[in-house]
Amino acid sequence: MPPTLDWMKHIWSIKTSPKLKDFLWKVANKAIPVSRNLERRGCPAFRCKKCGGEEDDLHTFLLCPLAKTVWDLAPLLERPEESLTSIDTLISLVNKSITLPPVGLYVPLWPWILWQLWKARNNLFFDNRSITGEEVLHKAIKDAKEWQDAQTEGVTTKQQTPNQSTRSATPLQLSGTICHVDAAWKQETKTCGIGGVFTGAYIPSPPIISYSRRFISSALIAEALAVRSAVMMAASSNIQSLTVLSDSQVLILLLKAKDSRPALHGIMSDIYHLSRLFKTLSFYFIPRLENREADHVAKLALLSATELPMGE
Ligand SMILES: [Zn+2]
Repeated sequence: MPPTLDWMKHIWSIKTSPKLKDFLWKVANKAIPVSRNLERRGCPAFRCKKCGGEEDDLHTFLLCPLAKTVWDLAPLLERPEESLTSIDTLISLVNKSITLPPVGLYVPLWPWILWQLWKARNNLFFDNRSITGEEVLHKAIKDAKEWQDAQTEGVTTKQQTPNQSTRSATPLQLSGTICHVDAAWKQETKTCGIGGVFTGAYIPSPPIISYSRRFISSALIAEALAVRSAVMMAASSNIQSLTVLSDSQVLILLLKAKDSRPALHGIMSDIYHLSRLFKTLSFYFIPRLENREADHVAKLALLSATELPMGE
């Protein structure tokens, strides 16, 4: 893998707390006081207090047995390989990783993992306090959730307007397999990221849909592609009962009416054709705020498709 510093362009747009952005910036600039970084400034070398290994940033965040345990246990779709050779490649890789649905996180978990690994290292180094990989991960997930909840609280209070039209009339009672889908579409590049997150009774493997497409001429087409992917993936996993949830009201209305539009024709007829393979196949609209995980996956897919910074 070629070393890439693309993620540094994105540091300030990573959905995480300002404290962690500062920390990541220091990590990126070799400004955290691990032995190797201090040696560069003329200080004598010292060893990792956990395992006695040579201490550099990659050791602390990936190669130390404590870090290995944490990444092994972390609920991520892809785990970083131990063969990575630099902290930059580690961060580029985990920056594309997806937190698996049961955790309920739509903000990235990895910055909190790095942060807790760093705190664990310092507690051991300065206070001789040792904690396990399980505890590190538990703290990372807890902190990430607390920060995430604090963000949403802010959002909901701001949006407490009388406008009820975007809210679900009644909470949906769903059984069988559920797929939240979303698409992120960038007009300038005509590129889209597709996201889908399966939950419920039977879940295909992997439980996530994530890819990007070029030459997509509208957001509606991208949303329709997301629905088709969910239906195709469920059909190929022999799922009998599927509910697809999308925040595109226009698309859901078309699907409920078994209708189409010229630009969507091929995609919609695929969906209607595949519907015969299910005992039940339903489509519902959900408000954007209730579709954050799929939205996050779609945005990540779009982000990884475009080399250019997305802007902030
Ligand atoms: Zn170590």
